[in-house]
Amino acid sequence: MSLISKFDPWKNKLCSCLPKLSLCAYTGCGHGCIYCYASSYIFDFFRPRPKKDFLERLKREIKRVPAGTTISMANSSDPYQQLEKKLRITRDGLKILANIPVKILFITKSCLIIRDIDIIRNLLGAVVCFSFTTLDKKLAKKLEPGAPEPECRLKALSVLSRYVPTAARLDPLVWPLTTSDIAGTIKILKAAGAKQIITSTYKARPLNFKKMFQVFPEYSKIWKKAYAEEGKSIEGSCYLPENKRKRLIQKVRDASLSEGILFSSCREGMVSLNTALCDGQQLFGRL
Ligand code: SF4
Repeated sequence: MSLISKFDPWKNKLCSCLPKLSLCAYTGCGHGCIYCYASSYIFDFFRPRPKKDFLERLKREIKRVPAGTTISMANSSDPYQQLEKKLRITRDGLKILANIPVKILFITKSCLIIRDIDIIRNLLGAVVCFSFTTLDKKLAKKLEPGAPEPECRLKALSVLSRYVPTAARLDPLVWPLTTSDIAGTIKILKAAGAKQIITSTYKARPLNFKKMFQVFPEYSKIWKKAYAEEGKSIEGSCYLPENKRKRLIQKVRDASLSEGILFSSCREGMVSLNTALCDGQQLFGRL
């Protein structure tokens, strides 16, 4: 199986990303987000492990990648796992990529990425997207028990923004748990340096829905009604009803625009609301 693969090989009908490739140094993820979608289809997901012979395979496979290609790191595993502090395979992989004319789109919840600024700033192109669900430390601990605290991500966003373009993924929006102060959150993300807000609502799958109920039993009734009774199944996930999603996405859009930054939604079927490419690719070279 290839290490570097096509992003979205299943061709999700709501995906509006430009063609790009995907690369993960690890299988699984230790951030333990209870809403995680990837945990539904990867075995033993919350026990991250390095990919076998990652660096050797990367050296071989990267030769076949056309110049100028965008590679997304990473979509079903954070490239900056706790393990990465010791193993440094993401870092060593970046050293290889720094010699090739490719652009890298990072998605992370980890402050460890700061360690690699020396390499990241010298890539042909780099955009770093930090993911947040909430800035509330206690709530984040329940939603993402193994991930660095939001405060730490904010600091990392602020540092990275001086060197490369950055975006913030307000993703997923967990209605109504994390959606009461969208405008306030976006103000803080903008102040920390985000040039674009990328957002998406929480999509329920059997495994993550069960976890959400376990951790937030007080919301189980409201979520059951919104998702299981009124919601809609799209591409294997259960979505909130469209009118509710539209209100949430519009709120994020309005707040982003009033802060003067770019906005996009991801897999909501609302591309017409976007003011930029959905995944942040437009930010390459726009420090
Ligand atoms: S950081 Fe992403 S891949 Fe890792 S557990 Fe959280 S949602 Fe899943």
